[in-house]
Amino acid sequence: MSTSPIPVTRFAPSPTGNLHIGGARTALFNWALARKLGGHFLLRIEDTDQLRDTGRESVLGILEGLAWLGIDWDEGPAPDLGQDRDPRGVHPFYQSKRLNLYTEHLQRLLDADLAYHAFETTEELTAMRDEAKREKRAFKYEGAALNIPRDERFKRAESGEPCVVRFKAPTGDIVVKDDVLGDVTIAAGELDDFVICKADGFPTYHFAVVVDDELMGVTHVVRGQEHLANTPRHVALQQALGFRTPNYAHLPLIVNPGGGKMSKRDKDKAVRQAVRDAGLTDAPACVQDTADFAAWLKDKNRQLNQRDLLALAAALNVELPEIEVEDFRAAGYLPEVVTNYIALLGWSPGDDIEKFDLDFLAERFDTSRIGKTGARFDYKKLAAFNNDAIGAMSEEEFAQRWWDWCAAYSPELLKATGAADAPNDNFTMLAGATRPRCKTFREGVGGAAFLTTDTNDIVFDEKAVSKVLHKNDGEGIAVLRELRNELSEVQDSELRALNQWRPEHLHELIEKFSEKRELGMGKVAQPLRVALTGSTVSPPIDATLAILGKSTVLERIDRCLEAVPVGAG
Ligand code: GLU
Repeated sequence: MSTSPIPVTRFAPSPTGNLHIGGARTALFNWALARKLGGHFLLRIEDTDQLRDTGRESVLGILEGLAWLGIDWDEGPAPDLGQDRDPRGVHPFYQSKRLNLYTEHLQRLLDADLAYHAFETTEELTAMRDEAKREKRAFKYEGAALNIPRDERFKRAESGEPCVVRFKAPTGDIVVKDDVLGDVTIAAGELDDFVICKADGFPTYHFAVVVDDELMGVTHVVRGQEHLANTPRHVALQQALGFRTPNYAHLPLIVNPGGGKMSKRDKDKAVRQAVRDAGLTDAPACVQDTADFAAWLKDKNRQLNQRDLLALAAALNVELPEIEVEDFRAAGYLPEVVTNYIALLGWSPGDDIEKFDLDFLAERFDTSRIGKTGARFDYKKLAAFNNDAIGAMSEEEFAQRWWDWCAAYSPELLKATGAADAPNDNFTMLAGATRPRCKTFREGVGGAAFLTTDTNDIVFDEKAVSKVLHKNDGEGIAVLRELRNELSEVQDSELRALNQWRPEHLHELIEKFSEKRELGMGKVAQPLRVALTGSTVSPPIDATLAILGKSTVLERIDRCLEAVPVGAG
């Protein structure tokens, strides 16, 4: 057994999907505690329920999510699944590779009669459960297998008869000392003889966690309150095995704005609502698995397969709530904002401090300031934090980071600005115009949609057309016609020295034009905006013109003049 002279915290995800935001908070707090105590933060993969193949992708997703958030770990799998990080020699970090260790400790309990083989079949157990249900009492396994003589139990198990191993629950009270909730006492007799090794020879979660925490020298366990009901079992097992009991701190649940548990089902809920609002009863064409769709529509607890869920969300224009770390990343939140915000879900540094970075968290984190009651996830507050962080960036930093994000999530914008390889003048200009008006990177892309839309697909907003182009006998249209002529004269040259299609020059042209026509700048810029983007909102007009390029600008003006001729209105 390794004894650890240093504080060790751990994050122990089951590789069942991407990193959930609640898991990220658990990881963050364990990381912060390890840093604060000058100890190690360890990552363990709890994959005893998983087929290894399906787990691998999840593990990579989880590691990537942590790395993106800036949460680094001292021990565990390497981010690229290369050589493990194992400075204290406590590997392996995958439970599926630790089966011999569980068997060894299981045997100790069996030999000491602190655990026993039980041979009831699944059907027999179901019948017992049903009976308890009929008699309106909670089911508790009463140790029927103990009526079989000890020798016979061992013999039958050794001969390969299918069986589980049950832990003999202690007869006294169990007290869980929790740094957040204080002492939680479980009265004698409340625990049943729970299963610690399944019929397939795999340990149950309870047993594996207890063995691993001891062998890996884990001194502090910070995890969600959903695990609180498990902790008495873990403490009882630790006592039976002669293990140390780590310090426990259970975190309040994270709830969605509606007050329910924040979970992937929230996405289903949003899409199901939209399907109902649209009056759809049959699966629309974008859905592949129509049977799954029909069952999902009827059952509000069912989750639709990921492919069809995303297809429906896109078809019905549903904005899916962000639940997993990857969702927040794809939505264009900054990792330092996400960690700042989730650190406030159930914890606060006090002194009215709300904005802080990871260094601050590592310095100030303290389990005694963890709250007891549910923490509501406030998307608006997160967006406001992100907005502030974007506002605080220099133009250069924003341009670079937005570009990096676009490279992964919006390559079409990079293509449209000619910046596919690196941020260029056009992209930097767009970034400069975008930064003051976006709360997230994705919102910034939304504001630049006119760049990625084909000229023929631009839809002219009716209100904008009537107000900006048709009003006053088509004053706007007249402006557009004249401007088109002036713009067509501007030199657009590959040679930098000759090129006049630049924002400064275009700005001057529009300014002079408005003076000449004795019109405010708005009366000139707005008709142009409508022609170029379909709406009255776009980055500064000189930048809009410069980025679109001369030929597209003329093409769009022509199309607009054709599509919305005055006289019709
Ligand atoms: N593997 C468990 C989970 O994914 C966590 C176990 C623990 O923290 O003790 O929820």
